[in-house]
Amino acid sequence: MPEFGGEPLHPDGARAFAAAWAWEAHQLGFVPLSMAETERLLLVHTVRLARALLAEDFTAQPAGDVGRALVEAHLTEPGLLDWMVTALGERFVAEVLPVRAGLPGTAERVAALQGRLAAGFARALRARTFHQQESIARSAWLARDAAEQALRDSEARFRAVFTGAAIGIGIAGVDGRITDVNQSFADMLGYSIEELREIDVASLTHPDDAAGMWELYRELIEGKHDSARVEKRYYRKDGSVVWTDLAVSLIRYDDGRPRFTVAMIEDITERYELQQRLTFQALHDPLTDLPNRTLFFETLGRVLDDAGPDHRVGVCFLDLDGFKAVNDGFGHDLGDRLLVTIARRLAECVAGRGHLVARMGGDEFVILVDGGDGLDEAVGVAEMALAAVSAPVRVGGHQLSVSASVGIVECPCAETSASELMKAADTTLYWAKADGRGRWAVYDPERSARDLARAALAAGLPAALERGEFVVHYQPIVSLLDSSMVAVEALVRWQHPELGLVGPDRFIGLAEETGLIVQLGEWVLRQACRDAEAWHREFPEGKLMVSVNLAARQADDPAIVETVADALRSTRLPAALLQLELTESAVMGSAAEPLRSLQQLADLGVRLAIDDFGTGYSNLAYLRRLPIHCLKLAGPFVEGIRADDPGAADRRDERIVDALVRLAHALELWVTAEAVETPAQAERLQALRCDTGQGRWFGGPVPAAGITARLRGEGTP
Ligand code: C2E
Ligand code: MG
Ligand code: MG
Repeated sequence: MPEFGGEPLHPDGARAFAAAWAWEAHQLGFVPLSMAETERLLLVHTVRLARALLAEDFTAQPAGDVGRALVEAHLTEPGLLDWMVTALGERFVAEVLPVRAGLPGTAERVAALQGRLAAGFARALRARTFHQQESIARSAWLARDAAEQALRDSEARFRAVFTGAAIGIGIAGVDGRITDVNQSFADMLGYSIEELREIDVASLTHPDDAAGMWELYRELIEGKHDSARVEKRYYRKDGSVVWTDLAVSLIRYDDGRPRFTVAMIEDITERYELQQRLTFQALHDPLTDLPNRTLFFETLGRVLDDAGPDHRVGVCFLDLDGFKAVNDGFGHDLGDRLLVTIARRLAECVAGRGHLVARMGGDEFVILVDGGDGLDEAVGVAEMALAAVSAPVRVGGHQLSVSASVGIVECPCAETSASELMKAADTTLYWAKADGRGRWAVYDPERSARDLARAALAAGLPAALERGEFVVHYQPIVSLLDSSMVAVEALVRWQHPELGLVGPDRFIGLAEETGLIVQLGEWVLRQACRDAEAWHREFPEGKLMVSVNLAARQADDPAIVETVADALRSTRLPAALLQLELTESAVMGSAAEPLRSLQQLADLGVRLAIDDFGTGYSNLAYLRRLPIHCLKLAGPFVEGIRADDPGAADRRDERIVDALVRLAHALELWVTAEAVETPAQAERLQALRCDTGQGRWFGGPVPAAGITARLRGEGTP
């Protein structure tokens, strides 16, 4: 009885599995053991397989031993092997090792065990059959060698074996004429004994007989060998095919001359078909029947290995867009059927060109474009694939429209490896998705390098925040009436140890993607409040406001109100001296309605400004309802404003600014013009009654000390 001590095996599950296995064995045929004995034996093997699956250094060898042990225990019904291979794949882990279910690597291990089990079984069965055949041949020999009486006895024994054997036995002269066959032989080939006695060995040729097989037979009847053994197909009389394990022995005269041959055949069709099925299963996706990733990588590896110097290879890596929504909305069954349809269409659309289509898993497919003459072929294939996917699919009474994105990589074989190619294809697929889905993208090494640099920058952000590598610079916001500095905008920079001073455009987006913007933004807010409080303490009459940018993700965080309140409390900055800048899209929040926290922020006494106004939704309706105090007109409008001989297009910008200022004033909002670069712009904006301006003309962003100096009158723009 196996021990279960200390293993994550499910003992009841293992027993139940062994019992089901034993029951199946008894169902399928004669078993020379009692049910209880069979169960005990199979429990041992169940535990062996489970331990193999769990082993730290995994090897499938124990499964091969189990296959062999089954043959030794006479559990040789092919149906039983079939059952076991299926059960190993479908229920073994869930029942016996539930802790491993779904863990990475489990499916691969199970597949390896299945393969090795079947191989061990087949090998042992062949060996056993061979032994049986040997002993039959020996009887024939004995018959020849014995004395007369003994000869007759032996003959009689041989006859008994000959007629009764389950193995097909046929005797033929060295001229190839069949002189005798037993019933089993006749049954296997579907002829009567009499019919076969009329037949010549050569007429049993099958067009797919192994190369060299008939050569071997000729050498045998010439006496060069004593026996030969091959796997051979025969046509049965009805035209169907039977796979056999064929062993032929040569019987010689006393002087050694070849006399006749004894052929023994065993029907291995079922086993052969099982093996074929297992091989197919190991290399194909069960849902769509397409080649799987193993077969894809094998093929790609072979293409790359065999490639000549000019041979090119392409990969189209395709992923359905929004497939999860189909699964979630219509159920997995429908999702599966959609995948089957897509798989069939993909296979059909490239079938004529001889390209391999494989399913990589989930909703990912890949097409191997082997030996095209450039990028055009791969792009053509990608376009055909996209068209094939996008035609509506009718499943389960629904008409579904899906799209896909494709990453294309195409290059000379000599310049790549399978893993590089697939990594590039994966990156490119991501670009196609990021660029808006439903399209293809071609791999671009420069873009990839930029991506890597971006990723490296993103990875460095958290440590940079911890090490205090960020600094806040301040840019004056100036009254257009009297040029006094009424506010400063806090603009963060990264004092990067290698890259120097890095501007926010290079890392704010990354920080938003990774979520670090919440901490970074809070740090900027507190720093800005501290600096503003110091200015306020030194120049209370100046009432210098600080304007801090709030990213969408920060504004959408319910904790923002408490964060702002705490920043004001701890720095003692009056709320009225803090302005928060939000873009139009940040105001709308993720729920597509204005953020609730805006009112709470306004209630703290903080001012709110819409940053880059005019570049987002420009939904004027919400301006009326929200507690907004200021609009910051986006740079592009200001750019179109020049005093010198404005062209028609420029006048249009001026009219827009004019209208926006009037609108803002009607709503009692303050207007700040951004990116004011020339005195002429400042003049026109003043004429258009803009309240404040910000830009290089009034001074660029500077460290806090620069603002302090300006307040002290030590520096002017
Ligand atoms: P923004 O809030 O619209 O800030 C104004 C940008 O215009 C600043 O760029 C500023 O340096 C630049 N600018 C100043 N004068 C001129 C001019 O005369 N002409 C032109 N064309 N531009 C001028 P900067 O500092 O590179 O900041 C870029 C953006 O990064 C900011 O745009 C803001 O959206 C974001 N950002 C900066 N600091 C923070 C921060 O602490 N938190 C968040 N969430 N975003 C920030
Ligand atoms: Mg801003
Ligand atoms: Mg702005």
